[in-house]
Amino acid sequence: MEFLLGRLLSNNLLNLGLKDICEEGLKDFGIDLGELETVEPDAGLGNGGLGRLAACFLDSLASLQMPGHGCGIRYRHGLFEQKIVNGYQVELPDNWLQDGYVWEVRKPERAVIVKFGGNIRMEIKGKNPVFIHENYEPVRAVPYDLPVVGYNCGTVNTLRLWSAEADDFDFSSFSKGDYLKAVEHKYNVENTTQVLYPEDSHLEGKILRLKQQYFFVSAGLLSIVRRYKKTFGTTMEALKKFHERIAIHINDTHPALAIPELMRILMDEEGFGWEEAWDVTVKTISYTNHTILPEALEKWPMDLFKGLLPRIYMIVEEINERFCKKLWEQYPGQWERIRHMAILSDNYVHMAHLSVVGSHSVNGVAKIHSEILKKEVMSNFNQFYPHKFNNKTNGVTHRRWLANCNPSLSALITEAIGPSWLTHPEDLTALEPYANDSSFQEKAAKIKRRNKEALANHISDYTGVNLDVDSLLDVHVKRIHAYKRQVLNALQIMDMYNRIRDNPNLDIVPRTFLFAGKAAPGYHLAKQTIKLVNTLADIINNDPIVKDRIKVVFVPNYSVSLAELIIPATNVSEQISTASKEASGTGNMKFMMNGAVTICTMDGANVEMYEEVGEENIITFGLSAEQVIRYYTFGGYNVMDEYHGDQRIKTVVDQLVNGFLGTGYNEFSDIHHLLMGTNDEYFILKDFSSYVDAQNRINDFYKDQTIWRSMAVNNIAFSSRFSTDRTISEYAIDIWKIKPLVVRSGRRF
Ligand SMILES: *Cc1c(COP(=O)(O)O)cnc(C)c1O
Repeated sequence: MEFLLGRLLSNNLLNLGLKDICEEGLKDFGIDLGELETVEPDAGLGNGGLGRLAACFLDSLASLQMPGHGCGIRYRHGLFEQKIVNGYQVELPDNWLQDGYVWEVRKPERAVIVKFGGNIRMEIKGKNPVFIHENYEPVRAVPYDLPVVGYNCGTVNTLRLWSAEADDFDFSSFSKGDYLKAVEHKYNVENTTQVLYPEDSHLEGKILRLKQQYFFVSAGLLSIVRRYKKTFGTTMEALKKFHERIAIHINDTHPALAIPELMRILMDEEGFGWEEAWDVTVKTISYTNHTILPEALEKWPMDLFKGLLPRIYMIVEEINERFCKKLWEQYPGQWERIRHMAILSDNYVHMAHLSVVGSHSVNGVAKIHSEILKKEVMSNFNQFYPHKFNNKTNGVTHRRWLANCNPSLSALITEAIGPSWLTHPEDLTALEPYANDSSFQEKAAKIKRRNKEALANHISDYTGVNLDVDSLLDVHVKRIHAYKRQVLNALQIMDMYNRIRDNPNLDIVPRTFLFAGKAAPGYHLAKQTIKLVNTLADIINNDPIVKDRIKVVFVPNYSVSLAELIIPATNVSEQISTASKEASGTGNMKFMMNGAVTICTMDGANVEMYEEVGEENIITFGLSAEQVIRYYTFGGYNVMDEYHGDQRIKTVVDQLVNGFLGTGYNEFSDIHHLLMGTNDEYFILKDFSSYVDAQNRINDFYKDQTIWRSMAVNNIAFSSRFSTDRTISEYAIDIWKIKPLVVRSGRRF
């Protein structure tokens, strides 16, 4: 449902091998390619990591010459644009299509009709019941195709984005009776793909979102089946082999309706019986789980679901019925277990349960996350379907997130080890000997500094803050969320500020703390966190005693292109989620590839980064996932012990609400409540002391630039496991059973 693409011009030129020649050619006309690139709008059709992962997957699929395509929604408005006014987030609509979008090709001749509402009539034809959908609302789904260009290989795949349009036929029949009503109808229909919901890792139970889900899933499946029949024939024989030639992957539960929709098409449109349709459906579909946060698990009220999708509801009911019957056979009398596993229960449709039951593969996105899924969150399902569960650790495309966003570092790497790493990221390990090569270290450090200068220019334009390019750049950028613990970082900065105020000669290296990230518009705690960071920036950057030692800056409107500017300039990457809560993270990997040192909890893919780079090249702290889960299960933690037991903690917590920050006393009440009113649900105060120690270790390492630079180079050298080329190869072999389809053998550059 999300593809967070960012800009495509520069990346397409890189993949086509045309970047250098275009740069040169444009120079003759007095045009700077870098400047020209900024004219392109960011395609912000996603919230954060989940949507960006899908975009990275597309790049690796095409670059590995795999026949794999994307299917999504052409939102008229992508993720909102963030402005900061008086320290507060203000949301503006993202009008990314206003000047047209050069990469899309509208394909009206490939449009399909998606049917909503209405009623289902059953007839008996021969011996079999047939289901007829009547009085439905037809919505025309028109595809817009974007080319997905592989790196130096001739493969061009497709990202097909669906747009909702009122059916003209329907419009004219309507307008005979009531013109105004017809126009209103057109407006309502087209509303379906107007806007991306801005909640990340949080469920928004709005019916329009369910409508969006069925809209693009039905359109996508209708077009896949149509294409399949055109290629392989329309016979029942051919269709029974559907799963041998087609794999459909659902990115989280958002497209889980693909399961009942494929059942519907096979039964109602192609004449399959239930058993045959179910066999093909399960073998076709695979599912990735992205989160274990309970507030993010999708469920829809049954009556709402039934009213909007009456036929799909009938099919889900039957899937549930048959599944529960099997459970009963396996676990006779265990009502509680069966109720907990049912797809329909407590008047809700549970989408994660539907996804597990209706697919042949369920994967988590980092080793630790997949283990938690199997042992905790989905242990019942793992017992029942042990063969379905597996892990596919996330990645990022190193072509966008290293080669394209950090061309100087990329050139330095190629100078040292040759260009093979662009297509074989595992070759990056050849950099290891350079970690202790002082000339290489020196060059890498110079590049980091130049990247900081480029970032400093942007920041002074957008915030008026002058970034000290000689200071250690410590970066915390991602969606704002309690579990990502931006608050922990803010409290640590307050403590550092208090220490410098107490002792102006404190021995610390000058540091700039940079934050960026969007808060969901209704998420008050997240919005207060943004205000807190901006308040700290105001106080600290204007305090003559500390302003040259530490600085704080919040850069507005975090997006793919802003990430591409920030990450190459970063020294320290903040990955400090409450252990067990961040399924994988992918920002962590982008920083690693660009030679930042990570300070992190043992959560998500941080654990595997630690395994790859070794304990001497990463800074870890805090509770383990096991400890966190044990506290949640058995209790035994009291936040008052931290508050009263550590003067530093008491001071910073009190400073949130005692006027110290110069704002109203209630300004940060939600944050105070998060800490003290929920018994510190995210273990922010529990991890505080260990975090401060870790920050001090960073400080000490950075003082010795020889050590620091070797850590930085080692991070690049050992980042190759986190390329989506590795991730996609695993999906291709283990789950999708697809192989490269070579359209042009040999590489050209
Ligand atoms: C990579 C990326 C993310 C994901 O970051 P995490 O730190 O893994 O949460 C979010 N937004 C954008 C724009 C990104 O590029």
